[in-house]
Amino acid sequence: MRKVSIFGATGSIGQNTIDLIARDPGAYDVVALTGGANIAQLAEDARRLNADIAITAYEDQLDDLRAALAGTDVEAAAGAGAVTEAASRPADWIMSAIVGAAGLPPGLEALKQGTTLALANKESLVTAGPLLMQTARDHGATVLPVDSEHSAVFQGLVGEDMSAVERIIITASGGAFRDWPLEALKDATLEEASSHPNWDMGQRITIDSASMFNKSLELIETKEFFGVHPDQIETVVHPESLIHALVGFNDGALMAHVGPPDMRHAIGYALHWPDRRDLPVARLDLVEIGQLNFRKACETRYPALKLARNVMETGGLAGAAFNAAKERALDGFIAGHIKFTEMASVVEHALDAISAQSGLINATISLDNVLRVDHLARQEADAAIAARNM
Ligand code: NAD
Ligand code: MG
Repeated sequence: MRKVSIFGATGSIGQNTIDLIARDPGAYDVVALTGGANIAQLAEDARRLNADIAITAYEDQLDDLRAALAGTDVEAAAGAGAVTEAASRPADWIMSAIVGAAGLPPGLEALKQGTTLALANKESLVTAGPLLMQTARDHGATVLPVDSEHSAVFQGLVGEDMSAVERIIITASGGAFRDWPLEALKDATLEEASSHPNWDMGQRITIDSASMFNKSLELIETKEFFGVHPDQIETVVHPESLIHALVGFNDGALMAHVGPPDMRHAIGYALHWPDRRDLPVARLDLVEIGQLNFRKACETRYPALKLARNVMETGGLAGAAFNAAKERALDGFIAGHIKFTEMASVVEHALDAISAQSGLINATISLDNVLRVDHLARQEADAAIAARNM
């Protein structure tokens, strides 16, 4: 039996992972499941899958978790430290599906046991890509991409030589507001931003799709994971979300990955890699689809894309600052403190403030320095949000 752990088990990716694992109960021995405030879901899954341990990120939820697990032999734990500690429990395959920079410490800890890390948590590559990839190399661990675009590129590169790769094209759905007039964007509500035209995902990534902060994280993720130059990375709006990414080779060939918008494909590919197994995803009917469309990804509509280019050019810890400021700007929009269109200016302000301190931004990419920059960028973003509120 394969030992597996799922970090962020109660979220959208986590639940899709559990869906796949629960279909073949004899094949998996579940070690750790982690979640946040959704204790009922966490406890139900831990019971059903007979996990060794269930961990909530929040210490004040420990009693509730213990009560929900009463009568089972599933261990209960709580707090960020317990989440990271659980990543050191031996497992053959670990899903990293916590949302945000909080996914970095457990991801690093998992790699230290030389395991296979299925990486949905793109923020860990954005904040600390070189550290994450080096930790994997140092410990003989494998990182497999779970973001649909990166899984698509990864699959397009099987058997290929990276030196023959000219460019990588990451497609974008364009999110909830792709057809809105530009002047209407400033009045976009939280509810409108929280509904995705093609994908069913967690609320934060759905809003990030509408603003294309998600795509901007994915451009940086592409650079860090595949080690290509930023000029080799392109993005194009593809409203149908059926082509997830394309790899362009030096002979002019473009290899496209086509599939339904169902994350169980990318999760399943990472679960069974290097094999391919039958997966419960829809099979596309190309005649019914009829046509695929592509549009330019406009930086006026999506200023986050321009910020991602700046981050890739600056390098160092700029990704950590960018992601942290983005998380606070998103919190600010969700809380109703800033408008949808103000998120980009808040992030730009924080990024400029941190980037101006060259000693800070060019420091070694260690976990401590990432956390330091993360903290300062959050303060800068909060200050920018407060200034807008007055
Ligand atoms: P989600 O919000 O649905 O779930 C997030 C999970 O993380 C939950 O289990 C939650 O309890 C946990 N969590 C939240 N804050 C935490 C904290 N501070 N500490 C520990 N755990 C915490 O998110 P999601 O949509 O499943 O996305 C998870 C990750 O996968 C993100 O990095 C996202 O960018 C990436 N991703 C998601 C999708 C998708 O289809 N949902 C696609 C590609 C990539
Ligand atoms: Mg994606």
